[in-house]
Amino acid sequence: MGLVGKIRSVHRSILMKKDKMSYQREFYKKAILSYPPRYVTVAISSACSFRCVFCAYHSDDARSGASNVYGLHFRLSLDQFKKIVDMCYRGRVPRIHICATGEPFLHPDILEIVDYAIEVYGTTSIQTDFFRPIFEKNNYLAEIIKRQDYISYITTDILSGDPKVHERLKKGSCYEDVLSSMEYINKHSDIHFEVHYIITKHNYKDIDKLIDDLSRRRINCHISIVNLHPHGFNDFTSTFSLYTSKDVHITTALEKAKMLGRKRGIPVSIPLPADAGPGICGSFWTRFQTWPVKGIDRGRYGENVIVGGCNAVVIGKLKSLGYIFDYINIMDLWNNEHFVRIRENLLRGIYPDEACQSCQNYNQKNQRGLRT
Ligand code: SF4
Repeated sequence: MGLVGKIRSVHRSILMKKDKMSYQREFYKKAILSYPPRYVTVAISSACSFRCVFCAYHSDDARSGASNVYGLHFRLSLDQFKKIVDMCYRGRVPRIHICATGEPFLHPDILEIVDYAIEVYGTTSIQTDFFRPIFEKNNYLAEIIKRQDYISYITTDILSGDPKVHERLKKGSCYEDVLSSMEYINKHSDIHFEVHYIITKHNYKDIDKLIDDLSRRRINCHISIVNLHPHGFNDFTSTFSLYTSKDVHITTALEKAKMLGRKRGIPVSIPLPADAGPGICGSFWTRFQTWPVKGIDRGRYGENVIVGGCNAVVIGKLKSLGYIFDYINIMDLWNNEHFVRIRENLLRGIYPDEACQSCQNYNQKNQRGLRT
């Protein structure tokens, strides 16, 4: 790097430190923000080979019209992806995450996509379900290992330490394929995995088995146990399935999992029960993602901005916070009329949608109402 490059990079890191401080000062206090999103998740396609029972995009049970995001087909082109990454980097978004409403590795340009994110950001993170046929056909495990110094982490879903339960919930996935892929990657690299485990009344029993299996296979990971977004299109996604403070046996299982993780050198983070959550919806101060939602312009599915696949989007009326390509600067999008209005309302205790009432972030005690 030449002198000019070095000066630019120092200047950028000073500004990014300032952004971080502004975030701490302005989070859930201001509606117009002076810092950019802390991260942006870019969905690159909708293709998926699985039919996970909890998935609002592909589950057979979501087909009935119960989900606003079911079966929406799109694929971001490499050029569109580059445009989003450039915009994020220019706008000092600290990191981006490559994702899909299905399996990102089904995108034919996935390696170019990963490499471009690495070229601009230095590192990137990515989601995958390790769908074996596509990984074998394209030698993707080896391609991932080649990029070990530039992949900050890989997120993947594991729903139980009991293969049968995992495979029943993550329909189409093979527990052994997922675990052996991670094991293989960690035999040849130190890449970190973020294991995403949605906890419900249906699958709290075998977390310890999973921790033991991950440890036996020497997988370098963190297990992030999270609460369900109760979209309610089947038994698993119903509000009855939610982990609440009455489920003392789940709390005990989670505490045990945390202790076992400590013993095995696998950090485990656990959620509060859904009815004892933070009571604030901080997403609008933290991040956004590009994601399709029914009812918007079909030709612009890949450009649509939301904060996450939460109830307000999947079963409510929150379809869009704008189209990313309508903006040149990230701050103009981040402080557009949708974001600012929702932040203003949340600061007054008013939530964006009626569907927020079944969300763990909904403040049951202190809210003043819902958007009319
Ligand atoms: S409170 Fe509403 S907008 Fe916020 S995460 Fe929950 S469902 Fe989404």
